[in-house]
Amino acid sequence: MIRESVKAMRSFQRQIISADLVVTGGGLSGVCCALTAARKGLKVVLVQDRGVLGGNSSSEVRLWVLGATSHMGNNNRWAREGGVIDEILVENIYRNPEGNPVVYDMILLDKVAAESNITLLLNTAVYEVEKDGDAIRSLGAFCPQNQVEYELRAPLFCDASGDGVVGFLAGSPFRMGAESIDEFGERFAPSADYGELLGHSLYFYSKDAGRPVRFVPPAFALEDITRIPRWRSFNSREYGCRLWWIEFGGRLDTVGDTEKIKWELWKIVYGVWNHIKNSGEFPEAANLTLEWVGMIPGKRESRRFEGDYIMRQQDIVEQRHFEDAVAYGGWSIDLHPSDGVFSEKPGCNQWHSKGIYPIPYRSLYSRSVSNLLFAGRLISVSHVAFASTRVMGTGAYIGQAAGMAAVLCRQLGVEPRALGDVGKMEVLQRELQRAGQYIPGFVLRDPDDLVRQARVVASSRLVLGGLKEGEAEGFLRPMTLSLAQLLPLEAGKVPVFSCHAEAEAETTLEVELKISGRAGNFTPDVSLGRKHIRLQPGRNCVVLDLDAVMPEAGYAFFCIYKNEGVRLYFSPQRITGILSVFNLVNEAVSNYGMQTPPEDIGVDAFEFWCPQRRPEGHNLAFSVQPALDRYGPENIYNGLARPVAGPNAWVADLSDPAPSLQIEWDVTKAIRRVVLKFDTDLDHPMESVLMSHPETVMPFCVRNYRILDEEGKEVYKKMGNYQTINTIDFETPVMTRRLTIAVEHPSPETPAAVFEILCYE
Ligand SMILES: Cc1cc2nc3c(=O)[nH]c(=O)nc-3n(C[C@H](O)[C@H](O)[C@H](O)COP(=O)(O)OP(=O)(O)OC[C@H]3O[C@@H](n4cnc5c(N)ncnc54)[C@H](O)[C@@H]3O)c2cc1C
Repeated sequence: MIRESVKAMRSFQRQIISADLVVTGGGLSGVCCALTAARKGLKVVLVQDRGVLGGNSSSEVRLWVLGATSHMGNNNRWAREGGVIDEILVENIYRNPEGNPVVYDMILLDKVAAESNITLLLNTAVYEVEKDGDAIRSLGAFCPQNQVEYELRAPLFCDASGDGVVGFLAGSPFRMGAESIDEFGERFAPSADYGELLGHSLYFYSKDAGRPVRFVPPAFALEDITRIPRWRSFNSREYGCRLWWIEFGGRLDTVGDTEKIKWELWKIVYGVWNHIKNSGEFPEAANLTLEWVGMIPGKRESRRFEGDYIMRQQDIVEQRHFEDAVAYGGWSIDLHPSDGVFSEKPGCNQWHSKGIYPIPYRSLYSRSVSNLLFAGRLISVSHVAFASTRVMGTGAYIGQAAGMAAVLCRQLGVEPRALGDVGKMEVLQRELQRAGQYIPGFVLRDPDDLVRQARVVASSRLVLGGLKEGEAEGFLRPMTLSLAQLLPLEAGKVPVFSCHAEAEAETTLEVELKISGRAGNFTPDVSLGRKHIRLQPGRNCVVLDLDAVMPEAGYAFFCIYKNEGVRLYFSPQRITGILSVFNLVNEAVSNYGMQTPPEDIGVDAFEFWCPQRRPEGHNLAFSVQPALDRYGPENIYNGLARPVAGPNAWVADLSDPAPSLQIEWDVTKAIRRVVLKFDTDLDHPMESVLMSHPETVMPFCVRNYRILDEEGKEVYKKMGNYQTINTIDFETPVMTRRLTIAVEHPSPETPAAVFEILCYE
C-alpha cells in the first residue's frame, strides 16, 4: 500500500530522454520521418499527443491517404510516393484491403514498435521549448496518462505537428492565411471574399443494425438543415471522408479556436444525422445507426513556417526544377471557400498541373531556428502552393526527406541548412533514392552499388509485340469513352500499332498519336498525327501507321476516339509499365475530362487521360510492329525504379520457364546486402480507409524468388513477397563472383519484373 502524508506541494515525475532527433507529431509525416531516421541508425523520440499514430489518417479522423496519384483521377502516372510511405500503404492493402481504420492504426503502431531506435511517447503533448541562442536545446512534454513530464534533448528536432507547436514556441517565422497576388505573382491567390484559410472537418460513420433504430438528437444539433446550401446532397449512403465538405472554421483562428470549431462541426454532424433519420426523406435509413462520430476535427490548414525558400503556385504549375529537390507533389491546387459548409460556392476549387512537381529541400527547415526541420503540412509554402502540398502522401514523402536530412546532419556534424552546400545535397538525394524515394529529374548514381560494376545477363527479356485478346465475356467492350494505349517507345520512327474492332454498322473511327510535350509527363498535349479509318460492319483491323517520329524516348498515346457503335477487344495480360488510359471524368478530383480554367488564374488547360481501376481496368488488345524492346536487364541499374520515360524495369518473357538475372563480377565480392525493387503498381493510389481494393497483392509483384551464389547454392529464398522493396542483409557476407536472382512470374498473364537491384559489400 502507498500512503503519503501531507505535503505543501507535489511535482510530477520528470524524465530526461536524450536522442539524436526528436520528432513532434505522430501524423503520417512524423511517422515516416521517424522511421526513416531510425532505420539509418539515429536514436529518435517520436512524441504524439494522441493515443494512436497517423494524425488525420488515423481512426480518430479517418481521412484516406492520398498524394500525387490523386485517386487515379489526373495525369500523374506511376506517381505513388515511394519509400516508407509506400511500404505502409502496401502493407495496409495486404492486411486491410477493406480499409478498416482500426486495422490501419494497428499497422502504423506495428511499424513504429518494430524499430528499436524509436522511443514512442503516445498521449504526450509537447508544450515547451528551451533554446540556446538560435538552436533548440530541449522540448518539454507531458503525458497525462502516466503523469510524467519529459525533457527531450537532442541536437536536431523535426516539427511534424501540423500546427507547428515547436516552430511556434521556438520563435520561427510563420504565416497563416493567404498571400496577396502581388507577393509572389500567384494568379490563383484567393480574394478576401473567398477566404484565406481552409477550415476543419469532422466525420461520422453509420452502419446497418439489422433492425429499426431511432435517433434522438442532442439539444445542440443544427435544427435548420437548409442553412447548409447543399443540404439536398446528403443521403443515407455516404459517410466518412466522402463528406469532406462538412467543413467549418476558415474564418476563425484554426489553432486557437479549434475547440469552438469542433463544437460547430458536432452541431452540423448531429444535425445532418437527424435530417437523415428523422426528416422522413430517407426511409431506407430506418435500420441505420451511428457507429462513430469524430472527436478530433481534421485540420487542413494553420501555420506555414518560413524556410529559405517559399514554394509558390508557379513552382507547381510549371513543374519547376530545383537542384535541391528531395520530394515531389502532385495533388491539385485545392482551395476551399473559408465559409465551408455554409458557403454558396462549390466546396472546392481544384486545378491540376500537367504532371508531378519537385519540392525543394530549402522549404523543409526553419530560416531562423538552426536545428529545426519541418515535415507535413507546415512546410515553407505559400497558401496557394500549400493547397497542393498539404495532402498526406506528399506530407509523408516530405517527412522521409526530413528524416534522411537529419541522418546526414548527424553523420556530417552539420545543421540542416548546411546540407545545401556543394556535394552534400547529392548525398542526401542519393540516400533518399536508395530508400525508394523517386525525385523527378534525378537518377540514382550510387558509387557503392556493385551491380553497376558487374555484367548483368538475363535468361530472357520481354520484347513486346502486343497483347492477346481476352476470350472471356467482358473483354469486348463498347467504346463509350475515348481511349489511348500508353506504350514506351524509343526515339525515332514510331512503330505501326493495330488492334481489332467490331463495328455495328459502317462507321468512321478517329485515331491519333499523341505524346507529352514535357519529358516524364503523361499529359498528351502534342499531336504527332491523326487520321480517320473507315470501318465495315463486323470485325475490322484498325491500323495506326502514321509515319511519325518520336523526338526522344518516352511514352506515346495511341488514341482511339469514342464511337459507341464500335467495340474493342481488351486483354487479360498485365505488363509492367503498360496501361490503357481513358478520357474519363472523375468528379472526386474535379476531373471533367478536360481542365478548362479561367484565363487569368495561371493554370493550364489540358485533357485528362486516366486508367480505370481494377478489376475492370485492362489494357487494349493490340499488336505493335516492330515489337518494343524496352525491357532489357540494363534497366535494373539505370538509376530509376519506376516508369518515367520508359518502363525502367527488366521484364522476363512470359514463356521463360525459369526467369533469372545473373550479376557477374571479374573478382570475388563479399556481399552483405542485396536490395530488390519490385513492381507494386505505383499507379494504384491505395486509399487507406473507406474504399476497398480488389487485391491484397499487386498483380505485377514478384511473389517468389531465390538468390544463388556462383556455385548455385541458394543463399536466400522468399516465398509470398508482396512488398516493393526487399532488403536482404546477410549475417556473413556471401563470397561470390556471381549472384543469380531467380524469380517466378507472378501469374500466367503477367511476366516477372524487377525495377532495380542494388548490391553492397
Ligand atoms: C477534412 C480534410 C480532408 C482532407 N482530405 C485529404 C485527403 O483526402 N487525403 C490526404 O492525403 N489528405 C487530406 N487532407 C489533408 C491532410 O489530412 C493534412 O494536411 C495532413 O494531415 C497533414 O499531415 P501532417 O502529418 O502534417 O499533420 P497531421 O495529420 O495533423 O498530424 C500531426 C500530428 O501531430 C500531433 N500533434 C499536434 N500537436 C502536438 C503536440 N503539441 N505534441 C505532440 N503531438 C502533437 C497531432 O495529434 C497529429 O497526430 C485533408 C484534411 C482535412 C482536414
